[in-house]
Amino acid sequence: MTFSARIAPPAGENSNQVPALTGYNLFLTDRTLVDAVKREGAIRVLEQITELGEILGRAEAQDWGVEANENPPVLHTYDRNGNRRDEVVFHPSWHCLMKTSIGHRLHSLPWLDSKKGAYVARAALMMITVQNEAGHTCPVSMTFSGLASLRTEPALAREWEPRILSSAYDSRFIPAPDKRGVLLGMGMTEKQGGSDVRANTTRAERIGSSREYLITGHKWFCSAPMCDAFLILAQSEKGLSCFLLPRWAPTGEKNKFFIQRLKDKMGNRSNASSEVEFDSAWAHMVGEEGRGVNTIIEMVNHTRLDCAVASAGLMHQALLQAVHFCRHRQAFGKLLIDQPLMRNVLADLVLESEAATLMVMRLAASFDARQSDEHERTFCRIATAFSKYWLCKRSPLVVGEALECLGGNGYVEDSGMPRIYREAPLYGIWEGSGNVICLDILRALAKDPGTVDAVVQELQSARGSDSGLDSFLEQTQTELTTCLKQGLNNGGGGAELQARRLAERLALALQASLVVRHSAAGFADAFIASRLKGDHGHAFGTLPAGLELSTLLESVTAPLRMSL
Ligand SMILES: Cc1cc2nc3c(=O)[nH]c(=O)nc-3n(C[C@H](O)[C@H](O)[C@H](O)COP(=O)(O)OP(=O)(O)OC[C@H]3O[C@@H](n4cnc5c(N)ncnc54)[C@H](O)[C@@H]3O)c2cc1C
Repeated sequence: MTFSARIAPPAGENSNQVPALTGYNLFLTDRTLVDAVKREGAIRVLEQITELGEILGRAEAQDWGVEANENPPVLHTYDRNGNRRDEVVFHPSWHCLMKTSIGHRLHSLPWLDSKKGAYVARAALMMITVQNEAGHTCPVSMTFSGLASLRTEPALAREWEPRILSSAYDSRFIPAPDKRGVLLGMGMTEKQGGSDVRANTTRAERIGSSREYLITGHKWFCSAPMCDAFLILAQSEKGLSCFLLPRWAPTGEKNKFFIQRLKDKMGNRSNASSEVEFDSAWAHMVGEEGRGVNTIIEMVNHTRLDCAVASAGLMHQALLQAVHFCRHRQAFGKLLIDQPLMRNVLADLVLESEAATLMVMRLAASFDARQSDEHERTFCRIATAFSKYWLCKRSPLVVGEALECLGGNGYVEDSGMPRIYREAPLYGIWEGSGNVICLDILRALAKDPGTVDAVVQELQSARGSDSGLDSFLEQTQTELTTCLKQGLNNGGGGAELQARRLAERLALALQASLVVRHSAAGFADAFIASRLKGDHGHAFGTLPAGLELSTLLESVTAPLRMSL
């Protein structure tokens, strides 16, 4: 007897296997996200986000994500004659993903539309896009963020901006002036360290008396090396400075930008991350000489926003997959979603995703408002840091728990969960890993004493609704003030030692205040009881008795039911 053929179950037999979650709208099925976009003044972009949500939920677009990750990019160091080629070739599905994102202005929306809510709308676009495929959002995010720093060099910005803001994706490896649209990357991290960029050794030598330089050195991490230009840091005469280094020199020849190898990464496999060397590569200075960190920090802040948004997106997608699975899978005579203990796990994950979404939408709104509102500018500075820290910390845990809801199927690639699981820890490393971000919170406090007021004012509006929340907010204010008194340079103890505690507390306080203000009844009780009052275990699924779990679960299942 042979077993070579797979025997299909007889027609009508229930295999208890779960249909793929496909053919749904990634935007419309997320009520919290839709409400936030409306509340924050981005109704004019609803149609566009809805359209993208529909495209990304199609089986065809889901296949792009699978194929782009199963067929990772390939580096061609040399051509057939042994000449340097330095070109990375991608699977066609990568290009479909890029074309869709650039076409929907994920890289440009707030730069083209300065009205209220543009950052929020773009964050919503980003949040649904990472749920389909996250790897390709790396160059999209860097292109979006890079313009923030490039604008400090107006002449250069004037030349590059029209190409950057174009909604055409042009993947040809040709000089930027000949292209319909271009992408930007970033090169800060060197072998000796990424957090401490002031230790960079790459050198910049000025050409005559111009703002043009020749760059010699390396970058240990340089993602998306097929971008058309990179904002990099290098040491010039007056110290660490920022430069725009294009793949092609103004002479029309390839710049001396050599891709040494691609990193073999745990996840994020659709995206190429490389090690590069510069050998007298042409570059143009951006911003003030010797103030490179100051110049590139706006790019960094925008990418930190995206790290937070992406983390919230991954959490939401993992939750959707878990809820969808449990709505279809039976065990011990019941659907999993009706098993009391599974309801506790899922409801706990719903709470986490809800709070994460509210948090990134509030953060995006502060990016919108900070141009004209000093309070928002100060709030945005510190909230970017603690939101990025907290959501990047929560996302791998949430994804891991959601994966387990699918049992063995969740551990198998076909389910899509392993790809999300491998992606999740990356955002905690990019653009400042956990500790570095927490130290940045202290820096924000030390630099601008108005920061405490900005945070307190933000949280004020939620006071009075729950005594537990009130006392948590009170303690948060006390810790902030103590931290401010201790100062950053206090001999390595005090504030620095406790910085993660402070970051966590600030994040929970903001999340609680947002849940109180914006979530349906039942959410606030559950969040405050478990996250603030400590009536919660160390794993998910440990919500206390007496909460309205149905309300929480219904917030996710109802839109899914209507959409599928
Ligand atoms: C897939 C991928 C793609 C990347 N793409 C790019 C890119 O395109 N461009 C780019 O420039 N970089 C890129 N990076 C690099 C990334 O930004 C760095 O890895 C990150 O900034 C951390 O730097 P590092 O790896 O040198 O770690 P280190 O700086 O050596 O830090 C190691 C650990 O020490 C901690 N630490 C550092 N200082 C302190 C301190 N004072 N107190 C307490 N703890 C501290 C950090 O939080 C971290 O956990 C990429 C990384 C990855 C994984």
